Amino acid sequence: MEKTSSTAIAGISHDRDSIINLDHGDPTMFEPFWKEVGNSATVVIPGWQKMSYFSDPRNLCWFLEPEFANEALRLHRIVGNAVTDDRHIIVGVGSTQLIHAALFALASTEARQPVNVISAAPYYSMYSGIADFMKSGMFRWAGDAAAFNGDDNFIELVCSPNNPDGEIRDAVRGNEAGKRVHDMAYYWPQYTPMRRSADHDVMLFTVSKATGHAGTRIGWALVKDAEVARKMAKFIEMNTIGVSKDSQVRAAKILKVITDGYELPDLEAGSKFFHFGRCLLANRWQRLRQAVKASGRFSLPQFPSEFCEFFKEQAETYPGFAWLRCEDQTIEDLEVFFKTLNILTRSGRQFGVGPEFVRVSMLDRDANFDVFIKRISSFE
Ligand code: PMP
Repeated sequence: MEKTSSTAIAGISHDRDSIINLDHGDPTMFEPFWKEVGNSATVVIPGWQKMSYFSDPRNLCWFLEPEFANEALRLHRIVGNAVTDDRHIIVGVGSTQLIHAALFALASTEARQPVNVISAAPYYSMYSGIADFMKSGMFRWAGDAAAFNGDDNFIELVCSPNNPDGEIRDAVRGNEAGKRVHDMAYYWPQYTPMRRSADHDVMLFTVSKATGHAGTRIGWALVKDAEVARKMAKFIEMNTIGVSKDSQVRAAKILKVITDGYELPDLEAGSKFFHFGRCLLANRWQRLRQAVKASGRFSLPQFPSEFCEFFKEQAETYPGFAWLRCEDQTIEDLEVFFKTLNILTRSGRQFGVGPEFVRVSMLDRDANFDVFIKRISSFE
């Protein structure tokens, strides 16, 4: 991640010249929910507990805390976003480590040529960096899946809903012999209607985007094939000898509070996390669409409303990022234009498309989002 000024990192900035950093998808907008929940989401770990490296020596993923695994399964069951039967759960240091682990597990240690890693543009900006960072002889970044005309030796990263543009996606190279990793970081009810339980070979999730706890650094993979799961666990063993138990215990508690909010009938309406998230995002998207329309300079993707199996009603899509396109011929580079308004965004170029696009985080704190809306509503 590139560094920004300390004003931007501090997060909350109100004055006219302050820099608003909406480049990263830092999910701080969920803080008010967790403040409201208070001590029921607090975790205390006595000094003598969780000291061993091992969590569950009989499990193929021996560093997986059973209480975290149980709560992840419980949450998937109430949300209905993924098939969990006959799956191995692999916990990782965020889903970032799991992307590395999945590439390692799906590539061959024997192959003479590195396998090509592809994803349809606009693709999540970290994929290219992750694929090429270690200059591995096992895999290499090969760019836009739609433009790829290599052989069947590929791994396609499928992000759905997609970061940056919020689209629901299937694999571009769906019926071929290549392998696929489904990154489902945003397949949660606050962002998009739950259409069905996803049923893919390798599915990645993360508390960063599910609950807002990016700092806890916990992701999990649901993996069908035992050998792939074993290799992913091996990668994590060689990389970090497992995953912080303290973080897993915290993540378990956070997931439990969310599920209890829906399963325990005597809890108040205010304890329903996905309702909170959807309501806040709906309000932000409405304000953003209004401001964009009034400016006449930009456009945003449109999404059809669909029946949500979780909310049991027609629901709208509210992605965690706004994928803004510039419609004004006098602006060549939208990221540079936003910089002149002291708003940091991420250029379309980092997602494999042109500078007429930027990605803007919708997940920041209220104060920063308000300044963003004010600034794009007031320039001439
Ligand atoms: N996949 C996608 C699509 C993401 O947007 C992110 C976070 N920006 C990640 C993976 C990684 O998330 P983390 O490592 O925090 O779990």
